[in-house]
Amino acid sequence: SRGGVLLLDALRPWVEQDPGGVALRFEEMTLTWEQLSDRVLRNADAQRALGLRPGDRVAFVDKNHAACLETTLACSAAGTVNAVVNFRLAPAELVHVIKDSTARVLFVGHEFRETVDELLPELPDVERVVTVGGAHDEYEPLLAAAAAVDPAHSASVDDCFLQLYTSGTTGHPKGAMLTHRSLVAHGRAAARGFGFERDSVNMVAMPLFHVGGTSWALAGMMRGCTTIVVREVVPDRVLAQLAEDSVTHAFFVPAVFGFFLQTPGVADYDYSSLRCLGYGGSPMPTALLRSALDVFPVDFYQVYGMTEASGVFCILGPEEHRDDAHPERLVSAGRPVDGVELRVVDPVTGMEVPDGHVGEFHVRGEQVMAGYWRLPDATGSTIVDGWLRTGDAGRRDEDGYVYVEDRVKDMIITGGENVYPAEVERVLSEYPDVGEVAVIGVPDDTWGESVKAVVAPGQGAELDTEKLLAFAAGNLAGYKRPRSVDVVEALPRNATGKILKRSLREPYWKGRERAL
Ligand code: ATP
Ligand code: MG
Repeated sequence: SRGGVLLLDALRPWVEQDPGGVALRFEEMTLTWEQLSDRVLRNADAQRALGLRPGDRVAFVDKNHAACLETTLACSAAGTVNAVVNFRLAPAELVHVIKDSTARVLFVGHEFRETVDELLPELPDVERVVTVGGAHDEYEPLLAAAAAVDPAHSASVDDCFLQLYTSGTTGHPKGAMLTHRSLVAHGRAAARGFGFERDSVNMVAMPLFHVGGTSWALAGMMRGCTTIVVREVVPDRVLAQLAEDSVTHAFFVPAVFGFFLQTPGVADYDYSSLRCLGYGGSPMPTALLRSALDVFPVDFYQVYGMTEASGVFCILGPEEHRDDAHPERLVSAGRPVDGVELRVVDPVTGMEVPDGHVGEFHVRGEQVMAGYWRLPDATGSTIVDGWLRTGDAGRRDEDGYVYVEDRVKDMIITGGENVYPAEVERVLSEYPDVGEVAVIGVPDDTWGESVKAVVAPGQGAELDTEKLLAFAAGNLAGYKRPRSVDVVEALPRNATGKILKRSLREPYWKGRERAL
């Protein structure tokens, strides 16, 4: 395995030392390490029987299911690749992603079988669809008919076995090729960062098509934890399950914390087994974080990560959530995890900027993906000399804490000056009648781009745009001031709650190219 560790080698100790220990729970099913290992080998054998060879792809379309993790592990053994697809995509997007994956075999949750069958005429690569779960389950019979034999595939640590798609916030979703090397490096850094121990119980509530689901799960498994796969987040069910399954570690996106806090009796559930609550994946509003810290009497960890880095690469630990000497750190995304280097670079000049100045975060380390599947140009412009350009803009303070402010693609270049929308948004959101605000760049014949604010008024508020512009003029440098304001009912967001600025920009940029 040439100077690295294969995923299954990282799990082998638990199968050998603790064959009867609980490896995985999903709904009514409990699997020991021995049973999990047996099912993974059968899955790999079934893939071979279906005609799949090393380098071939399967795709998984379902809500969370243990079979998806089993398939990922089986792919790591067989040399194949599991492309996990966002089941929430609209039919046209599903076709785009499944086609892009070139999967020959699809594993499809029974709830999605009808939808996928209707799309099959547009999916010429697909030779076989396997229904997972439900009354017509084909997955268990497939495993039963297969043999639990070692696939004897001689893998390289740089082989991809998991392909996860980016969330498509800034463009079409791109398939990030994750490898033994990247996922084992991530797993080790995450285990140290979040304190996974041999006796930890790790809840996987994020979708498995996202790094927050699959990579988080693999990180716990590598450390020998018990993994609890949650099919889908039903807030009161999840809160109850934390105690029922003695969960020690769990990770949720900010939007889910929002649902938790609206759940009746949220403070009364039993959180005594919990040691680590992770949150992140997108910025967490400070008010929401403070409420969550009040309600959940446990250690909080902020997670800053991305698909292309196999998951988390910066963590803000529990001490920093309680640090009265540095209250500003609560809005920081923490510091790089073990094995990750981070630098801050001006996206226009390519030069590193001093601490405290805003630039693009670049990260380097073994956990960086091998590249984007079938997008050599995007790969070449995203990974340069081993540095992954995150596309995120922000600053680092002199103690090494990073503050994520914006997407580089959202930066506005007006008259040669860089304007980061977050700074303008912060000022505008202080104005009383503003509920939500997004600041975007629109074409300007004189300045290249000009600053526009898109505002959703607060509940029951009436917004006077002239007064808002006057307020901005009193609080922002000339080139940062919005030149115009659009008033809307609500800002467009994607499934994980990220504001879709490209949708806001679109009507203004029809037929024109932006610099970024
Ligand atoms: P696409 O790359 O297709 O535009 P995406 O970047 O939203 O979509 P993901 O890989 O799922 O896809 O998300 C990673 C991004 O999420 C990061 O680059 C960052 O912008 C944001 N993010 C993640 N964690 C945090 C955090 N703790 N604070 C602020 N932003 C975060
Ligand atoms: Mg991205």
